[in-house]
Amino acid sequence: MARIVMKFGGTSMAGIERIRSVAARVKREVAAGNQVAVVVSAMAGETDRLVGFCREASPLYDAREYDVVVSAGEQITSGLLAIALQAIDVPARSFLGWQLPICTDTAFAKARIDTIDTATLEESFAAGAVAVIPGFQGVAPGQRITTLGRGGSDTSAVAVAAAIRADRCDIYTDVDGVYTTDPRIVPRARKLAKVTYEEMLELASVGAKVLQTRSVGLAMKEKVRVQVLSSFTDADAPMADTLPGTMIVGEEEIEEVERQLITGIAHDKNEAKITLTRVPDQPGTVASIFEPLAAANINVDMIIQNIAHQSASNGASSTSATDVTFTVPAADLARSIEALNQAREAIGFGELIHDTRVAKISVVGVGMRSHAGVASTMFTTLGARGINIQAISTSEIKVSVLIHEDETELAVRVLHTAYGLDAEAA
Ligand code: ADP
Ligand code: ASP
Ligand code: MG
Repeated sequence: MARIVMKFGGTSMAGIERIRSVAARVKREVAAGNQVAVVVSAMAGETDRLVGFCREASPLYDAREYDVVVSAGEQITSGLLAIALQAIDVPARSFLGWQLPICTDTAFAKARIDTIDTATLEESFAAGAVAVIPGFQGVAPGQRITTLGRGGSDTSAVAVAAAIRADRCDIYTDVDGVYTTDPRIVPRARKLAKVTYEEMLELASVGAKVLQTRSVGLAMKEKVRVQVLSSFTDADAPMADTLPGTMIVGEEEIEEVERQLITGIAHDKNEAKITLTRVPDQPGTVASIFEPLAAANINVDMIIQNIAHQSASNGASSTSATDVTFTVPAADLARSIEALNQAREAIGFGELIHDTRVAKISVVGVGMRSHAGVASTMFTTLGARGINIQAISTSEIKVSVLIHEDETELAVRVLHTAYGLDAEAA
Protein backbone atom coordinates (compact mmCIF):
# COMPACT_ATOMS: atom_id res chain seq x y z
CA MET A 1 0.00 0.00 0.00
CA ALA A 2 1.24 3.44 -0.89
CA ARG A 3 0.05 6.82 0.18
CA ILE A 4 -0.30 9.10 -2.80
CA VAL A 5 -1.42 12.59 -3.69
CA MET A 6 -2.99 12.92 -7.13
CA LYS A 7 -3.28 16.45 -8.49
CA PHE A 8 -5.46 17.27 -11.50
CA GLY A 9 -5.05 20.54 -13.37
CA GLY A 10 -7.63 22.74 -15.04
CA THR A 11 -7.92 20.95 -18.37
CA SER A 12 -8.30 17.63 -16.55
CA MET A 13 -11.22 19.09 -14.55
CA ALA A 14 -12.88 21.01 -17.41
CA GLY A 15 -16.42 19.65 -17.43
CA ILE A 16 -18.33 16.75 -15.95
CA GLU A 17 -17.10 14.18 -18.48
CA ARG A 18 -13.49 14.96 -17.61
CA ILE A 19 -14.26 14.92 -13.90
CA ARG A 20 -15.80 11.47 -14.34
CA SER A 21 -12.67 10.25 -16.01
CA VAL A 22 -10.59 11.70 -13.17
CA ALA A 23 -12.84 9.87 -10.71
CA ALA A 24 -12.24 6.60 -12.59
CA ARG A 25 -8.49 7.14 -12.39
CA VAL A 26 -8.69 7.83 -8.67
CA LYS A 27 -10.79 4.70 -8.22
CA ARG A 28 -8.07 2.61 -9.86
CA GLU A 29 -5.48 3.83 -7.37
CA VAL A 30 -7.87 3.16 -4.47
CA ALA A 31 -8.66 -0.30 -5.84
CA ALA A 32 -4.92 -1.01 -5.95
CA GLY A 33 -4.96 -0.58 -2.17
CA ASN A 34 -3.51 2.94 -2.01
CA GLN A 35 -4.49 5.74 0.35
CA VAL A 36 -5.35 8.69 -1.85
CA ALA A 37 -5.74 12.43 -1.34
CA VAL A 38 -6.71 14.38 -4.44
CA VAL A 39 -5.91 18.03 -5.07
CA VAL A 40 -7.88 19.74 -7.82
CA SER A 41 -7.68 22.92 -9.87
CA ALA A 42 -10.60 24.99 -11.08
CA MET A 43 -11.98 24.15 -14.53
CA ALA A 44 -9.71 25.46 -17.29
CA GLY A 45 -10.36 29.14 -17.94
CA GLU A 46 -12.38 29.61 -14.77
CA THR A 47 -9.70 31.37 -12.72
CA ASP A 48 -8.99 33.73 -15.65
CA ARG A 49 -12.69 34.54 -15.79
CA LEU A 50 -12.80 35.27 -12.06
CA VAL A 51 -9.64 37.39 -12.23
CA GLY A 52 -11.28 39.31 -15.10
CA PHE A 53 -14.28 40.14 -12.93
CA CYS A 54 -12.01 41.57 -10.23
CA ARG A 55 -10.11 43.73 -12.72
CA GLU A 56 -13.36 44.92 -14.23
CA ALA A 57 -14.71 45.82 -10.81
CA SER A 58 -11.58 47.87 -10.06
CA PRO A 59 -8.06 47.73 -11.51
CA LEU A 60 -6.73 48.46 -8.01
CA TYR A 61 -8.76 45.72 -6.36
CA ASP A 62 -8.32 44.71 -2.72
CA ALA A 63 -6.21 41.53 -2.81
CA ARG A 64 -8.15 40.06 0.14
CA GLU A 65 -11.41 40.24 -1.77
CA TYR A 66 -9.69 39.05 -4.97
CA ASP A 67 -8.76 35.89 -3.06
CA VAL A 68 -12.37 35.36 -2.00
CA VAL A 69 -13.41 35.57 -5.65
CA VAL A 70 -10.68 33.57 -7.37
CA SER A 71 -10.57 30.73 -4.84
CA ALA A 72 -14.16 29.90 -5.77
CA GLY A 73 -13.26 27.89 -8.89
CA GLU A 74 -11.57 25.16 -6.86
CA GLN A 75 -14.45 24.98 -4.40
CA ILE A 76 -16.72 23.94 -7.27
CA THR A 77 -14.44 21.27 -8.74
CA SER A 78 -13.62 19.72 -5.36
CA GLY A 79 -17.31 19.25 -4.60
CA LEU A 80 -17.99 17.91 -8.08
CA LEU A 81 -15.18 15.36 -7.90
CA ALA A 82 -16.42 14.15 -4.50
CA ILE A 83 -19.87 13.68 -6.05
CA ALA A 84 -18.42 11.87 -9.07
CA LEU A 85 -16.40 9.54 -6.80
CA GLN A 86 -19.40 8.75 -4.63
CA ALA A 87 -21.37 7.97 -7.80
CA ILE A 88 -18.91 5.16 -8.59
CA ASP A 89 -18.95 3.87 -5.02
CA VAL A 90 -15.74 5.44 -3.83
CA PRO A 91 -16.25 7.03 -0.41
CA ALA A 92 -15.11 10.63 -0.76
CA ARG A 93 -15.49 14.06 0.77
CA SER A 94 -14.23 17.52 -0.03
CA PHE A 95 -12.25 19.57 2.50
CA LEU A 96 -11.87 23.26 1.72
CA GLY A 97 -8.65 25.05 2.63
CA TRP A 98 -10.15 26.65 5.75
CA GLN A 99 -11.72 23.38 6.86
CA LEU A 100 -8.50 21.37 7.16
CA PRO A 101 -7.07 24.04 7.65
CA ILE A 102 -4.26 24.87 5.22
CA CYS A 103 -2.76 27.85 7.06
CA THR A 104 -0.91 30.50 5.08
CA ASP A 105 0.69 33.87 5.67
CA THR A 106 -1.16 37.08 4.80
CA ALA A 107 0.47 37.77 1.41
CA PHE A 108 -2.92 37.78 -0.29
CA ALA A 109 -2.96 36.59 -3.93
CA LYS A 110 0.47 34.97 -3.46
CA ALA A 111 0.32 33.50 0.01
CA ARG A 112 2.76 30.91 1.32
CA ILE A 113 1.65 27.82 3.16
CA ASP A 114 2.86 27.72 6.75
CA THR A 115 1.21 24.55 8.08
CA ILE A 116 -1.34 21.94 7.11
CA ASP A 117 -3.33 20.25 9.82
CA THR A 118 -3.34 16.58 8.87
CA ALA A 119 -5.65 15.23 11.58
CA THR A 120 -8.74 15.33 9.36
CA LEU A 121 -6.87 13.76 6.46
CA GLU A 122 -5.59 10.95 8.71
CA GLU A 123 -9.17 10.27 9.84
CA SER A 124 -10.26 10.20 6.24
CA PHE A 125 -7.56 7.66 5.34
CA ALA A 126 -8.42 5.55 8.39
CA ALA A 127 -12.04 5.48 7.22
CA GLY A 128 -10.93 4.35 3.76
CA ALA A 129 -12.22 7.55 2.14
CA VAL A 130 -10.69 9.76 -0.52
CA ALA A 131 -10.09 13.35 0.60
CA VAL A 132 -10.65 15.87 -2.17
CA ILE A 133 -8.84 19.13 -1.52
CA PRO A 134 -9.27 22.28 -3.60
CA GLY A 135 -5.84 23.49 -4.67
CA PHE A 136 -4.70 27.12 -4.71
CA GLN A 137 -6.47 28.13 -1.48
CA GLY A 138 -5.73 28.49 2.20
CA VAL A 139 -6.65 30.57 5.19
CA ALA A 140 -4.61 33.32 6.84
CA PRO A 141 -4.56 34.41 10.49
CA GLY A 142 -7.71 36.45 10.99
CA GLN A 143 -9.73 33.80 9.12
CA ARG A 144 -9.41 35.37 5.73
CA ILE A 145 -9.23 33.25 2.58
CA THR A 146 -5.95 33.34 0.66
CA THR A 147 -4.74 32.04 -2.69
CA LEU A 148 -1.24 30.87 -3.53
CA GLY A 149 -0.53 32.65 -6.82
CA ARG A 150 -1.43 31.46 -10.30
CA GLY A 151 -0.73 27.79 -10.85
CA GLY A 152 -0.76 27.33 -7.07
CA SER A 153 -2.60 24.02 -7.02
CA ASP A 154 0.73 22.33 -7.74
CA THR A 155 2.06 23.83 -4.52
CA SER A 156 -1.03 22.73 -2.60
CA ALA A 157 -0.45 19.19 -3.85
CA VAL A 158 3.22 19.09 -2.90
CA ALA A 159 2.49 20.68 0.48
CA VAL A 160 -0.21 18.10 1.22
CA ALA A 161 2.15 15.32 0.08
CA ALA A 162 4.86 16.60 2.42
CA ALA A 163 2.43 17.00 5.33
CA ILE A 164 0.99 13.48 5.08
CA ARG A 165 4.38 11.98 4.13
CA ALA A 166 3.05 10.63 0.87
CA ASP A 167 5.12 8.16 -1.10
CA ARG A 168 4.39 10.05 -4.32
CA CYS A 169 2.87 13.24 -5.62
CA ASP A 170 1.48 12.64 -9.10
CA ILE A 171 0.77 15.83 -11.05
CA TYR A 172 -1.70 15.01 -13.81
CA THR A 173 -1.87 17.61 -16.55
CA ASP A 174 -2.61 17.99 -20.26
CA VAL A 175 0.87 16.99 -21.46
CA ASP A 176 2.55 13.70 -20.59
CA GLY A 177 5.61 15.13 -18.89
CA VAL A 178 8.16 17.90 -18.79
CA TYR A 179 9.61 18.65 -22.21
CA THR A 180 12.73 20.47 -23.38
CA THR A 181 10.39 23.37 -24.11
CA ASP A 182 6.65 23.97 -24.28
CA PRO A 183 5.52 21.23 -26.70
CA ARG A 184 2.68 23.47 -27.83
CA ILE A 185 5.22 25.89 -29.27
CA VAL A 186 7.84 23.48 -30.54
CA PRO A 187 6.32 20.21 -31.73
CA ARG A 188 9.84 18.75 -31.87
CA ALA A 189 10.35 19.27 -28.13
CA ARG A 190 11.56 16.12 -26.39
CA LYS A 191 10.09 14.61 -23.25
CA LEU A 192 12.53 14.38 -20.36
CA ALA A 193 12.40 11.12 -18.40
CA LYS A 194 14.02 12.87 -15.45
CA VAL A 195 14.77 16.44 -14.57
CA THR A 196 16.59 17.67 -11.46
CA TYR A 197 14.80 19.73 -8.82
CA GLU A 198 17.22 22.54 -9.41
CA GLU A 199 16.68 22.69 -13.16
CA MET A 200 12.92 22.32 -12.81
CA LEU A 201 12.95 25.11 -10.25
CA GLU A 202 14.79 27.37 -12.65
CA LEU A 203 12.65 26.35 -15.65
CA ALA A 204 9.47 26.98 -13.68
CA SER A 205 10.69 30.31 -12.39
CA VAL A 206 11.35 31.54 -15.92
CA GLY A 207 7.97 30.52 -17.28
CA ALA A 208 7.65 26.75 -17.90
CA LYS A 209 4.23 26.76 -16.30
CA VAL A 210 3.92 22.97 -16.20
CA LEU A 211 4.77 23.24 -12.47
CA GLN A 212 4.45 26.27 -10.23
CA THR A 213 7.89 27.39 -9.05
CA ARG A 214 7.06 27.18 -5.39
CA SER A 215 5.85 23.61 -5.73
CA VAL A 216 9.29 22.60 -7.01
CA GLY A 217 11.12 24.51 -4.27
CA LEU A 218 8.94 22.85 -1.67
CA ALA A 219 9.37 19.39 -3.22
CA MET A 220 13.13 19.89 -3.18
CA LYS A 221 13.15 21.01 0.44
CA GLU A 222 10.78 18.32 1.68
CA LYS A 223 12.12 15.60 -0.63
CA VAL A 224 8.72 14.89 -2.14
CA ARG A 225 8.81 12.54 -5.14
CA VAL A 226 6.99 14.47 -7.85
CA GLN A 227 5.97 12.94 -11.12
CA VAL A 228 4.37 14.83 -14.04
CA LEU A 229 2.01 12.78 -16.21
CA SER A 230 -0.99 13.07 -18.46
CA SER A 231 -4.59 12.58 -17.39
CA PHE A 232 -5.52 12.16 -21.04
CA THR A 233 -4.18 8.67 -21.59
CA ASP A 234 -6.93 6.07 -21.90
CA ALA A 235 -8.33 4.14 -18.99
CA ASP A 236 -6.31 1.02 -19.84
CA ALA A 237 -3.02 2.90 -19.63
CA PRO A 238 -0.50 1.53 -17.12
CA MET A 239 -0.83 2.55 -13.50
CA ALA A 240 0.87 5.78 -12.49
CA ASP A 241 3.79 4.00 -10.81
CA THR A 242 4.80 2.55 -14.18
CA LEU A 243 3.69 5.39 -16.47
CA PRO A 244 6.41 7.08 -18.51
CA GLY A 245 5.92 10.63 -17.27
CA THR A 246 8.71 12.86 -15.99
CA MET A 247 10.22 12.25 -12.59
CA ILE A 248 11.71 15.22 -10.70
CA VAL A 249 14.86 13.85 -9.08
CA GLY A 250 17.97 14.80 -7.15
CA GLU A 251 21.07 15.55 -9.22
CA GLU A 252 22.71 12.32 -8.01
CA GLU A 253 19.95 10.31 -9.67
CA ILE A 254 20.95 11.50 -13.13
CA GLU A 255 23.70 9.54 -14.86
CA GLU A 256 26.62 11.47 -16.28
CA VAL A 257 25.79 10.27 -19.82
CA GLU A 258 22.23 11.58 -19.57
CA ARG A 259 23.42 15.11 -18.83
CA GLN A 260 22.91 17.76 -21.45
CA LEU A 261 24.45 21.19 -21.65
CA ILE A 262 21.00 22.76 -21.92
CA THR A 263 18.02 21.03 -20.33
CA GLY A 264 15.28 23.29 -21.52
CA ILE A 265 14.05 26.59 -22.87
CA ALA A 266 11.18 28.55 -21.37
CA HIS A 267 9.27 31.66 -22.28
CA ASP A 268 7.23 34.04 -20.20
CA LYS A 269 4.84 36.62 -21.59
CA ASN A 270 3.61 37.70 -18.20
CA GLU A 271 6.16 40.38 -17.55
CA ALA A 272 5.88 44.08 -18.22
CA LYS A 273 8.77 46.43 -18.90
CA ILE A 274 8.99 49.79 -17.15
CA THR A 275 11.53 52.48 -18.03
CA LEU A 276 12.08 55.53 -15.86
CA THR A 277 13.89 58.17 -17.87
CA ARG A 278 16.33 60.78 -16.64
CA VAL A 279 16.76 59.65 -13.06
CA PRO A 280 19.72 61.19 -11.21
CA ASP A 281 22.85 59.06 -11.59
CA GLN A 282 23.83 59.09 -7.93
CA PRO A 283 24.01 56.70 -4.97
CA GLY A 284 20.61 55.82 -3.54
CA THR A 285 18.56 56.37 -6.68
CA VAL A 286 18.09 52.72 -7.50
CA ALA A 287 17.08 52.06 -3.90
CA SER A 288 14.52 54.88 -4.09
CA ILE A 289 12.96 53.14 -7.11
CA PHE A 290 12.83 49.63 -5.72
CA GLU A 291 11.85 50.41 -2.13
CA PRO A 292 8.29 51.51 -2.95
CA LEU A 293 7.90 48.44 -5.17
CA ALA A 294 9.14 46.12 -2.44
CA ALA A 295 6.82 47.83 0.04
CA ALA A 296 3.94 47.08 -2.32
CA ASN A 297 5.09 43.41 -2.42
CA ILE A 298 5.99 43.62 -6.14
CA ASN A 299 8.85 41.47 -7.37
CA VAL A 300 11.24 43.13 -9.78
CA ASP A 301 12.93 40.72 -12.16
CA MET A 302 15.32 41.97 -14.85
CA ILE A 303 17.05 45.32 -14.25
CA ILE A 304 19.24 47.46 -16.49
CA GLN A 305 20.65 50.86 -15.82
CA ASN A 306 21.82 52.69 -18.91
CA ILE A 307 24.95 54.74 -19.32
CA ALA A 308 24.62 58.19 -17.80
CA HIS A 309 23.72 61.05 -20.12
CA GLN A 310 22.45 64.69 -19.93
CA SER A 311 21.21 66.23 -16.70
CA ALA A 312 18.64 64.84 -14.29
CA SER A 313 15.02 65.87 -14.30
CA ASN A 314 14.97 66.97 -10.68
CA GLY A 315 16.78 70.19 -11.49
CA ALA A 316 20.06 69.06 -9.92
CA SER A 317 22.15 70.60 -12.65
CA SER A 318 25.42 69.07 -11.48
CA THR A 319 24.16 65.46 -11.57
CA SER A 320 24.14 63.43 -14.72
CA ALA A 321 21.08 61.35 -15.48
CA THR A 322 20.37 57.81 -16.56
CA ASP A 323 17.46 55.62 -17.67
CA VAL A 324 16.54 52.63 -15.53
CA THR A 325 14.63 49.76 -17.10
CA PHE A 326 13.19 46.78 -15.24
CA THR A 327 10.45 44.19 -15.45
CA VAL A 328 7.61 43.39 -13.06
CA PRO A 329 4.82 40.81 -13.31
CA ALA A 330 2.29 42.18 -15.83
CA ALA A 331 -0.45 41.59 -13.25
CA ASP A 332 1.31 44.06 -10.94
CA LEU A 333 1.82 46.77 -13.58
CA ALA A 334 -1.03 49.06 -12.48
CA ARG A 335 0.10 48.88 -8.85
CA SER A 336 3.74 49.42 -9.86
CA ILE A 337 2.87 52.54 -11.79
CA GLU A 338 0.89 53.84 -8.89
CA ALA A 339 3.68 53.15 -6.38
CA LEU A 340 6.29 54.79 -8.62
CA ASN A 341 4.16 57.85 -9.32
CA GLN A 342 3.62 58.29 -5.60
CA ALA A 343 7.39 58.19 -5.09
CA ARG A 344 8.04 60.39 -8.09
CA GLU A 345 9.46 63.29 -6.15
CA ALA A 346 11.82 61.14 -4.11
CA ILE A 347 13.07 59.31 -7.21
CA GLY A 348 13.09 62.33 -9.50
CA PHE A 349 12.42 60.62 -12.82
CA GLY A 350 11.45 62.25 -16.12
CA GLU A 351 8.98 59.93 -17.80
CA LEU A 352 7.57 56.52 -16.91
CA ILE A 353 7.26 54.38 -20.02
CA HIS A 354 5.71 50.92 -19.87
CA ASP A 355 5.38 48.10 -22.34
CA THR A 356 3.54 44.81 -21.90
CA ARG A 357 4.38 43.53 -25.38
CA VAL A 358 7.55 41.83 -24.20
CA ALA A 359 8.55 38.22 -23.58
CA LYS A 360 11.36 36.73 -21.58
CA ILE A 361 13.13 33.78 -23.18
CA SER A 362 15.44 31.68 -21.00
CA VAL A 363 17.78 28.75 -21.53
CA VAL A 364 18.42 26.57 -18.50
CA GLY A 365 20.89 23.80 -17.74
CA VAL A 366 23.24 22.78 -14.95
CA GLY A 367 25.77 21.99 -17.70
CA MET A 368 26.42 25.69 -18.23
CA ARG A 369 28.25 25.85 -14.90
CA SER A 370 31.19 24.16 -16.53
CA HIS A 371 30.80 25.30 -20.13
CA ALA A 372 31.39 28.73 -21.58
CA GLY A 373 29.63 29.94 -24.70
CA VAL A 374 25.99 29.29 -23.82
CA ALA A 375 25.12 32.99 -23.70
CA SER A 376 27.03 33.83 -26.86
CA THR A 377 25.22 31.04 -28.78
CA MET A 378 21.96 32.56 -27.59
CA PHE A 379 22.84 36.10 -28.68
CA THR A 380 24.28 34.99 -32.02
CA THR A 381 21.27 32.80 -32.81
CA LEU A 382 18.77 35.54 -32.01
CA GLY A 383 20.85 38.18 -33.79
CA ALA A 384 20.98 36.09 -36.95
CA ARG A 385 17.17 36.10 -37.00
CA GLY A 386 17.01 39.86 -36.46
CA ILE A 387 15.57 39.49 -32.96
CA ASN A 388 16.45 42.48 -30.82
CA ILE A 389 17.45 41.91 -27.18
CA GLN A 390 16.04 44.52 -24.78
CA ALA A 391 17.45 43.23 -21.50
CA ILE A 392 19.57 40.33 -20.25
CA SER A 393 19.85 38.54 -16.93
CA THR A 394 21.79 35.47 -15.91
CA SER A 395 22.21 33.05 -13.06
CA GLU A 396 24.59 30.17 -12.61
CA ILE A 397 22.40 27.82 -14.63
CA LYS A 398 20.30 30.21 -16.74
CA VAL A 399 20.50 32.99 -19.32
CA SER A 400 17.40 35.11 -19.98
CA VAL A 401 16.71 37.78 -22.58
CA LEU A 402 13.79 40.14 -23.01
CA ILE A 403 12.47 40.47 -26.57
CA HIS A 404 9.36 41.68 -28.40
CA GLU A 405 6.38 39.45 -27.65
CA ASP A 406 5.65 38.79 -31.33
CA GLU A 407 9.03 37.06 -31.70
CA THR A 408 8.52 34.56 -28.87
CA GLU A 409 7.76 31.50 -30.93
CA LEU A 410 10.48 32.14 -33.47
CA ALA A 411 13.03 32.71 -30.71
CA VAL A 412 12.13 29.54 -28.81
CA ARG A 413 12.20 27.45 -32.00
CA VAL A 414 15.56 28.68 -33.28
CA LEU A 415 17.18 28.33 -29.85
CA HIS A 416 15.78 24.83 -29.45
CA THR A 417 17.50 23.87 -32.70
CA ALA A 418 20.68 25.80 -31.91
CA TYR A 419 21.23 23.91 -28.66
CA GLY A 420 20.59 20.56 -30.34
CA LEU A 421 17.39 19.83 -28.45
CA ASP A 422 15.13 18.94 -31.39
CA ALA A 423 13.72 15.41 -31.36
CA GLU A 424 14.45 13.25 -34.38
CA ALA A 425 11.74 13.77 -37.01
CA ALA A 426 9.12 11.02 -36.64
P1 ADP B 1 -2.59 22.39 -15.38
O1 ADP B 1 -3.88 23.08 -15.65
O2 ADP B 1 -2.67 20.91 -15.47
O3 ADP B 1 -1.95 22.87 -14.11
P2 ADP B 1 -0.84 24.10 -16.90
O4 ADP B 1 -1.50 24.74 -18.07
O5 ADP B 1 -0.63 24.90 -15.68
O6 ADP B 1 -1.65 22.77 -16.58
O7 ADP B 1 0.58 23.47 -17.33
C1 ADP B 1 0.65 22.57 -18.42
C2 ADP B 1 1.10 23.32 -19.65
O8 ADP B 1 2.43 23.76 -19.46
C3 ADP B 1 1.17 22.49 -20.92
O9 ADP B 1 -0.07 22.45 -21.58
C4 ADP B 1 2.24 23.20 -21.73
O10 ADP B 1 1.68 24.01 -22.74
C5 ADP B 1 2.94 24.11 -20.72
N1 ADP B 1 4.38 23.96 -20.71
C6 ADP B 1 5.26 25.01 -20.73
N2 ADP B 1 6.51 24.57 -20.72
C7 ADP B 1 6.46 23.21 -20.70
C8 ADP B 1 7.46 22.19 -20.68
N3 ADP B 1 8.77 22.49 -20.70
N4 ADP B 1 7.05 20.90 -20.66
C9 ADP B 1 5.75 20.60 -20.64
N5 ADP B 1 4.76 21.52 -20.66
C10 ADP B 1 5.09 22.82 -20.69
N1 ASP C 1 -6.84 27.65 -10.76
C1 ASP C 1 -5.61 28.32 -10.39
C2 ASP C 1 -4.99 29.00 -11.60
O1 ASP C 1 -5.53 28.91 -12.69
C3 ASP C 1 -4.63 27.42 -9.72
C4 ASP C 1 -4.15 26.26 -10.55
O2 ASP C 1 -4.82 25.86 -11.49
O3 ASP C 1 -3.09 25.72 -10.24
O4 ASP C 1 -4.00 29.66 -11.48
MG1 MG D 1 -0.79 24.56 -13.66
